[in-house]
Amino acid sequence: MRFQPSFYGTMTGHFLKNRLKGKKRFPLVLMLEPTHRCNLACAGCDRIRTAADRELHVSDCLRAVEECGAPVVAVTGGEPLLYGQIKLLLEELLSRGKYVYLCTNGLLAGDFIDDMLPHPNLTLNFHLDGMAKTHEVITGRPGSFNTSMSAISKAKKHGFKVSTNTTVYKNTGAAELEELFCLLTSAGVDGMLVSPGFAYQSVSEDIFSTRADIINKFRQLQSVFSKFRFMNTPIYADFLQGRMDIPCTPWGNPTFGPLGWKSPCYLVTDGYHETYEGLMSGTDWKKYEKGADPRCKNCMVHGGYETTVMRLAFSSPKVMMRMIKWNLGK
Ligand code: SF4
Repeated sequence: MRFQPSFYGTMTGHFLKNRLKGKKRFPLVLMLEPTHRCNLACAGCDRIRTAADRELHVSDCLRAVEECGAPVVAVTGGEPLLYGQIKLLLEELLSRGKYVYLCTNGLLAGDFIDDMLPHPNLTLNFHLDGMAKTHEVITGRPGSFNTSMSAISKAKKHGFKVSTNTTVYKNTGAAELEELFCLLTSAGVDGMLVSPGFAYQSVSEDIFSTRADIINKFRQLQSVFSKFRFMNTPIYADFLQGRMDIPCTPWGNPTFGPLGWKSPCYLVTDGYHETYEGLMSGTDWKKYEKGADPRCKNCMVHGGYETTVMRLAFSSPKVMMRMIKWNLGK
């Protein structure tokens, strides 16, 4: 089973509550960035280029969590393990019944695991973009692959839930991905995520794909993906392989960081708002839902589209049945 029944129960309650209140747009996952500081400078990431010298106080983080009410919180950054109050922040989130994903590059995870107790609602999510050679070209840090793999093994030994996230770039090869997923599976990870690389407006490296490239790439990779246990939903996989088109749900994953609430989404920045209400009322959501903004043209990232899958599941019994079958399956 990929997600525990209590997770589905919480999500069902969240949808029902918001729909009964007549809310058309409400968040599912808060992307919380307590710091933009990082111990890496990966190609493909823009966060160290923005407000890397500013951090949120734990009370600011908790205010944001209460304001938006999303049942899932992805603690990201920057590298969240550089945040001095990370343990306190995670404990506060867990005590509020949130499902928490700590998204880390893994370099500091070894010590963190000694300091933190596992919790059924806490998942450590490691970012790995390929085997050592590729991963270390992206991170620019020799040895970073082995450090992350050691931390993954240690986390599993200590009883943590572990998932991984792999960005598939233009030049990512099938054989290398298969080797990586084999290694992660034998390390006992609970699930793996893949997402196509997407160009942030402030990142110019030539490693990103067009939408047509992404569809071709994910079709070619189907034989690899079918062998492993992925957390990507089958509907999102259909979308990535061009079998169906779905709109983006940018408001489903609001991002809060040192500069405030980021509009409209994790990738694109048109401005920042002081409050969650300001974000919701001050963003022209229809433009992004329709993909009318030119920056959305090649975007197929899971943050924008997996939320759409959840919306579809809670609107269509057929989609919900498919999701339940997938959740219970291999
Ligand atoms: S399509 Fe991508 S870039 Fe556009 S709003 Fe959605 S997540 Fe953001």
